[in-house]
Amino acid sequence: MKTNYYDYIVVGSGIAGLYIALLAVERGSVLVLTKGSIDDCNTKYAQGGIAVAMAREDSPELHFKDTVAAGAGLSDPEAVGILTEEAADCIADLIRFGVPFDTLDGEITLTREAAHSVPRVMHAGGDATGEHIEVTLSRQVRSSPIKVLENCLASQILVQRGRVVGVKALDSHTGSTEEYACKFLILAAGGAGRLFKYTTNSDVVTGDGIALAFEAGAEISDMEFFQFHPTVLRLPGVAPFLISEAVRGEGGILRNVEGRRFMPDYAAEAELATRDVVARSIVYEMKKTHSDRVFLDVTHLPSRRVTTRFPHIYRFCREHGLDITKGLIPVAPAAHYLMGGVKVNIWGEATIPGLFAAGETACTGVHGANRLASNSLLESIVFGKRIVQRTKMTTAARRSRKKSGKTISCCLPEREALSKVPSLNLPNLQSVMWDRVGIIRSGKSLKEAADILAMYQGLLARPSDRPAYEVTNLVLCARLVTEAALLREESRGAHFRTDFPRTSREWQRRIVFKKNGTK
Ligand SMILES: Cc1cc2nc3c(=O)[nH]c(=O)nc-3n(C[C@H](O)[C@H](O)[C@H](O)COP(=O)(O)OP(=O)(O)OC[C@H]3O[C@@H](n4cnc5c(N)ncnc54)[C@H](O)[C@@H]3O)c2cc1C
Repeated sequence: MKTNYYDYIVVGSGIAGLYIALLAVERGSVLVLTKGSIDDCNTKYAQGGIAVAMAREDSPELHFKDTVAAGAGLSDPEAVGILTEEAADCIADLIRFGVPFDTLDGEITLTREAAHSVPRVMHAGGDATGEHIEVTLSRQVRSSPIKVLENCLASQILVQRGRVVGVKALDSHTGSTEEYACKFLILAAGGAGRLFKYTTNSDVVTGDGIALAFEAGAEISDMEFFQFHPTVLRLPGVAPFLISEAVRGEGGILRNVEGRRFMPDYAAEAELATRDVVARSIVYEMKKTHSDRVFLDVTHLPSRRVTTRFPHIYRFCREHGLDITKGLIPVAPAAHYLMGGVKVNIWGEATIPGLFAAGETACTGVHGANRLASNSLLESIVFGKRIVQRTKMTTAARRSRKKSGKTISCCLPEREALSKVPSLNLPNLQSVMWDRVGIIRSGKSLKEAADILAMYQGLLARPSDRPAYEVTNLVLCARLVTEAALLREESRGAHFRTDFPRTSREWQRRIVFKKNGTK
């Protein structure tokens, strides 16, 4: 093990992994393991931007208020306070690393997105924010002493005497496995968007970080809260492509297949309501009009504004035969962002010593039951920086308070065997999740899914290659999402059940899973 020793091992090379690696290398040796090439991740697809209170009419307090409102009673106020207060300092790091945020007359330009009360979203290249961040950070990493191993999938966390001591990884080109030892292991492996049939997520986003942490004995929280993005391009034969929230922020209007604007029927904020409200409204409207899509209309906006503000979206649609300045954009909701994940405290520490989690893998509690748009890139850097700060502290200073708030602790229950289940493969798993654990859920659909998923888990063989590891991890995450959704007998934020359509004060608590938790 000694030859493969690093002070920090970071799993994942999206914004969270690369930013942490760049800060950590000032303190010690760093290894980044990433299972595809360095830029295979969700980060590079982020369009809208990154939220920070910097406008004259804005303040961290107002950003706090909007974040907590979106979180529907489950955001952790301490974590949100940190997010909004420490945002500007971390954004300054991104600027120092060279991220070219858009400016006008020397001032950073800010846009307004749904559920933000003022313009506060910084962007780069118009709607190519994530790509600029990813390219800039990976260039910095490549020219630093950080060691990066691509095509290297972290497959197991190594724990000795209750402390994380390293990680096992599979080289997916050679098929060989290797153990790497470290002082601090940081999971920055992204969310689990590939759980669903329709998703905006990259194909590397398969819940690996959450599954690894769960198997090692860490606590996993808030898994029932999965955000579905309301407006994802629905063109036959074209992979789901996000039509950013910012398009509605700039004045885009949603129309049903009959051409009628429908959002004012569902919410006073109309197109600028929170994502869960807009996604559900679209589903209802699609049902009403017997259609699998609605339309986003920007034809009333000056075409120059559309092409300069959304060059990436404009170009993508144009390449697929649609000029969005002249024609309506067909859209439907798709799985987008996992609010839950590895439970961490305000220093990014998981519940096993030596283990940290950041970015979409982590559950810091800032998003509560629903994420405010453009807060996830921000969360990745704010809590990423805190991880590195934490590792610099003395052991005594590191002793921290446990996270407060009401929780229900559980383990995955055993379930009755079914006589027949759809065969276990990725498309069937994704259909089970989309059809039964999607935007609109019920006790019946969740119970059906829970039974099928428990059967799937029993059918899994020991994985030996990347696809097998990914399906194994997705099945585990699918069980965590479904069992949590079944337990939560209410509707809140992104979690909506037809049999419990109201929010219940009794459920103002988090659901936490642990491998050997309370039955
Ligand atoms: C289309 C789209 C648009 C978005 N727009 C915005 C936006 O405008 N603003 C915003 O704030 N958020 C946005 N989001 C969300 C945001 O992009 C993500 O939450 C964020 O980029 C997550 O960063 P991350 O570093 O945690 O994970 P990712 O960027 O997903 O990176 C995960 C990394 O982990 C690696 N990995 C996974 N498993 C393993 C393993 N077992 N071993 C080794 N490596 C592994 C992957 O290969 C990848 O490198 C968007 C998301 C999508 C999909």
